[in-house]
Amino acid sequence: MEITFLGTSSGVPTRGRNVSSIGLKLPQRPEVWLFDCGEGTQHQLLRSELKSSQIRRVFVTHMHGDHIFGLMGLLASCGLAGNNHRVDIYGPEDLSGYIKACLRYSQMRFAFPVQVHGVTPGVVYEDGEFQVTCAPLKHRVPAFGYRVGERQRAGEFDVGKAQKLGIPPGPVYGRLKRGETVTLPDGRVVEGKDFAGIPQAGRHFVYCTDTIYCDQAVALAQGADVLVHEATFAHQDAALAFERLHSTSTMAAQVALAAGVKQLILTHFSPRYAPGNALQLSDLLAEAQAIFPHTALASDFFTYAIPRCQTTPAMAVGAG
Ligand SMILES: [Zn+2]
Ligand SMILES: [Zn+2]
Repeated sequence: MEITFLGTSSGVPTRGRNVSSIGLKLPQRPEVWLFDCGEGTQHQLLRSELKSSQIRRVFVTHMHGDHIFGLMGLLASCGLAGNNHRVDIYGPEDLSGYIKACLRYSQMRFAFPVQVHGVTPGVVYEDGEFQVTCAPLKHRVPAFGYRVGERQRAGEFDVGKAQKLGIPPGPVYGRLKRGETVTLPDGRVVEGKDFAGIPQAGRHFVYCTDTIYCDQAVALAQGADVLVHEATFAHQDAALAFERLHSTSTMAAQVALAAGVKQLILTHFSPRYAPGNALQLSDLLAEAQAIFPHTALASDFFTYAIPRCQTTPAMAVGAG
């Protein structure tokens, strides 16, 4: 599970940063899910390691242009490139009308099936491996934060334990792996669950933008492995954050701290903190790290592989 930032500037692009979009590469399947699609996202995709032909889902946070103006161009290009996979798009209720209007006035037709889903708080998508939920944020227009949760994976089959108990390798291992109860040739009855290693915890990615500090973001991000949160402004410019319903670096850090996440990555920066100005992004990072040390700044094309957290009982060894 890997995220790639395709745009990290708020409102307008700059020379070094495009407007919002993140690609999520899923493990063990050739699929990319996109979170927001600001203008120019398809160009950013061309410069990244991600393939736009692998985009299967697009999750839109809200209807501001810096989050949606790249959507129609990207979908048009996907069609011309011969992509015929179905694409599901999730977002606020108005998204469907917006897409329909664009299609109508530009006389465009999708060359592949596209399904638009208006989201409401709660589960917006799930399959055997992932669940995506959303929660309302606090912005000038309806906005949603998204959480992608990977389901817990069963632990590896403990071959050593089976051998120690004198269970001969063969189809019986497969049955125990599946958790079945097996009667051995010598009459012993063994349970598959007794041979399962430590289950692997699923990874959780949370994306909160655009928003001012809100409790819903804290609830959505609870215990996540990585929280990507907007930090449009520095703490010194908090008045602007309150006026425009955006976050400061310190608000983002407070969300991370209250939610107990493992890693915070800040994004959606105002161009006012560009190099050469009085306040710079390094100041926003320092402000956030003073509250939540595990904070990083996003930059365009920055890729973060979400680590799988290991729950090893061996950690308890050595007490006393
Ligand atoms: Zn924005
Ligand atoms: Zn916005």
